Amino acid sequence: MKAKTRGPARVRESKAAKRERALEILDRLEREYPDAECALHHRNAFELLVATILSAQCTDERVNQVTPALFARYPTAEELAAARQEELEELIRSTGFFRNKAKNLLGMANALVERHGGEVPAEMDALVKLPGVGRKTANVVLGNAFGRAEGVVVDTHVKRLSGRLALTTHTDPAKVERDLMTLLPRDRWGAVEHLLIWHGRAVCDARRPRCGVCVVASRCPGRA
Ligand code: SF4
Repeated sequence: MKAKTRGPARVRESKAAKRERALEILDRLEREYPDAECALHHRNAFELLVATILSAQCTDERVNQVTPALFARYPTAEELAAARQEELEELIRSTGFFRNKAKNLLGMANALVERHGGEVPAEMDALVKLPGVGRKTANVVLGNAFGRAEGVVVDTHVKRLSGRLALTTHTDPAKVERDLMTLLPRDRWGAVEHLLIWHGRAVCDARRPRCGVCVVASRCPGRA
């Protein structure tokens, strides 16, 4: 029989106790994954923005297989804006939803050229107005390319682990992000994404979490 995924764990504790627990969890994960960083290969903000758009409904590994040829063909926003949609679709086909992603990449590149001189803006308000860019993508770019923590990136791993660790009772990404931002000091927001993603991949699997070898098990209300 398949193991079932579980919803957020619930625990009675004061806000202060939850903050203290959340910080200790991050500290332990930082010691466990000292090299945790953005898994999408990129050399600048433009490449990270492209890679993040491609990563929707796709693994980072697959995106990293596709981007070298893509970045070689279209190294700048100007060149991407002038791309032919069919050629772009062929290059990114294996990432899935390739027609929509190609449309978004073209729209994003044209918007960069028309509104931002071909540069990626470093502001949340401007980023989320670009085609194909939501708050999650903007947070990835701001945190990793500009070192600016405007929020917490909530992907599927971050959402799942935040629930299991009882750092949120929500499953809606915007609400999970708000809870994490309330719970943690701003200078830790950037670390949450990488640490929870790495831990989700290495130990806290969606269906079969390996609680017996988990470094945060003693602080995790959702442990099996
Ligand atoms: S104790 Fe289990 S459920 Fe909690 S974070 Fe670790 S692996 Fe995940």
